[in-house]
Amino acid sequence: MTREAKPTMLNISSSAAESETLSGSMCDAALKKEPLLLHSCCGPCSTSVLERLIEEFSVTVFYYNPNITDPEEYLLRKTVQKDFIKAYNANNPLGAHINFIEGDYDTDSFYEVARGLESEPEGGLRCEQCFRLRLSRTAEKAAELGIQTFGTTLTVSPYKNYKLITKIGMELAQQNGLSWLDRDFKKQAGYQRSIEMSKEYGLYRQHFCGCDFARDKEK
Ligand code: SF4
Repeated sequence: MTREAKPTMLNISSSAAESETLSGSMCDAALKKEPLLLHSCCGPCSTSVLERLIEEFSVTVFYYNPNITDPEEYLLRKTVQKDFIKAYNANNPLGAHINFIEGDYDTDSFYEVARGLESEPEGGLRCEQCFRLRLSRTAEKAAELGIQTFGTTLTVSPYKNYKLITKIGMELAQQNGLSWLDRDFKKQAGYQRSIEMSKEYGLYRQHFCGCDFARDKEK
């Protein structure tokens, strides 16, 4: 079953979007780690990526995922992301502190870029537009916050096209005068580690990517 691109009823404005800066971040500041704005698609994918990055960076997670078109699913994944960060902040061996920012839940933006691409298979042209939307907002947010380097957890997934994501990230970095964190996080068993850590922290792991179009195809 396919469905037409359509606007959503639920939009969470930027004023309602959440931002948490906790005092523990002083620890990273004291260590003079470089700031990084990390787009995260979900809590489970962020686990092993954060485990690697906190050694080098003072990380702020940017949860911007209007492609999760079901509002209940969106809120569930956001909660899982926040809960993981909270638990990991209390429990990581480096004493690092990760901040959290939520982007707008503007599903209209996703439906706009997906228009005409509803029937594309997962991994096709709709996904390219979806990556571009999420990473372009991440780059804008990084520029707004004065964070020079941005990246994404998306490359930890074996289902996501690392080369394409990197190409988009590099283009956006150039356009915005920023640096792209070019990492294929699935290397060195990064994906397997994310599964292990998700189990360890009792995280919900979804069985579909995010949008209704991909979900419908699975039915
Ligand atoms: S399948 Fe996933 S990556 Fe592709 S458009 Fe849908 S939510 Fe985005």
